[in-house]
Amino acid sequence: MASAVRPNGNATQNGHVPNVVAPLDASRLKIERATTLKPIPAPGSYSFGDIHTDHMLVCKYHPSTGWSAPEIKPYGPLAIDPSSNCLQYASNVFEGMKAVLNPEGKPCMFRPRDNMKRLLTSAKRMALPAFDPEALLTCISTLVTLESRWIPSLPDHRNSSLYIRPTMVGTKASIKVGASDEALLYAIVTPVGPYFPVQKIGGVSLLAVSEHVRSWPGGTGGFKLGLNYSPGFVPQQAAAALGYDQVLWLLDEDKKITEAGAMNFFAVAERDDGGITIVTPPTDGTILPGITRDATLVLLREHAKNPSANLLNVPFPPNVQIEERPLTVNELAAWAAKGQLLECFGTGTAVLVVAIDRIGDFDVSDDFEDTGSAVSEIKEKKRKMREITLKGGLVGLGPVGKALWDKLLALKEGREQYMGWNVLCE
Ligand SMILES: *Cc1c(COP(=O)(O)O)cnc(C)c1O
Repeated sequence: MASAVRPNGNATQNGHVPNVVAPLDASRLKIERATTLKPIPAPGSYSFGDIHTDHMLVCKYHPSTGWSAPEIKPYGPLAIDPSSNCLQYASNVFEGMKAVLNPEGKPCMFRPRDNMKRLLTSAKRMALPAFDPEALLTCISTLVTLESRWIPSLPDHRNSSLYIRPTMVGTKASIKVGASDEALLYAIVTPVGPYFPVQKIGGVSLLAVSEHVRSWPGGTGGFKLGLNYSPGFVPQQAAAALGYDQVLWLLDEDKKITEAGAMNFFAVAERDDGGITIVTPPTDGTILPGITRDATLVLLREHAKNPSANLLNVPFPPNVQIEERPLTVNELAAWAAKGQLLECFGTGTAVLVVAIDRIGDFDVSDDFEDTGSAVSEIKEKKRKMREITLKGGLVGLGPVGKALWDKLLALKEGREQYMGWNVLCE
């Protein structure tokens, strides 16, 4: 690993002293406090990601010296060379986590070590330098503790929290196409309310899109790289122009579902034998391995194994199946046509669990040509669209989604403990 420390003064055979490369070291953290603190806006008066708090965490990597002493300092612009690798070739990886106040008023996070591990995996995929995940977590915990007055505390459990955005960018100042051996690792935080305003009242709608794909076999969709998201802005705008909240990302001719916007996708269906099946696509490299997705699967499987443990407040029929397998839009449509599509929901740190109550899907059996998908063309095709809706016209979370929402929020907020998922910031 690039951040390994070699002993000082360990001369090589030819007499040269090799570089001593410093690891990311939380014990060297320097804190420079802002001289004036910003006023805290009222919860509900801002949208996701708009607010900049007082401080940020910054650390630099240089191949000859390793990681600089991490610094917490006043929030502000970063100086980046215009030739920086990240500005030219998008060497940008990130994470999304949340801190909330537990019932004792202490800041806590949900499975933060999984985020650190995933950031390291993303950095590796982007040929960016490695770091000690535990050291980064310590620095982030310190930042969150310092910024804890920004954590919204709403008594009605509406998923208000301090969103944490660890970011790493390649800063080698060269337009040469190649890996950046210099990097900037930083973390900013921002207070957030519910991601979708509709979360208070119902669900989100999705437009199934197959002419643009978010990810593909052998691609980078399984990593949290900045370059996975910007190509989705045009299809997202097209979906919005047609009255849909988000894109349902598909893959291949058979319209395999990958994800819903930047969320993992789950469907709940009634089978002919009266049981229920809960399906989510597998993490085959085209799906971002969400921590909320994983927590959802763990909770569902535990509950299905032993319903009397009452892990989730939802009665499962005796024959419930939880499946990670490819799932197509046509399967959803077939369940919907038979009145067997009970629930669809998305999971992710930003939303926790959000209901999906309507999916628009073009019937591509017509002679559908990819003409670049300008909004006007998509509008034209809307006439050929089918709408997939839930049994009984359900709007908002159904019993499974609601049980997961309640449980995950309780675990996130430290009102309940499970498997050490809730971690205090110290
Ligand atoms: C971050 C992300 C998710 C959700 O992951 P969590 O770890 O649950 O927050 C899902 N899909 C995409 C594309 C993402 O970027």
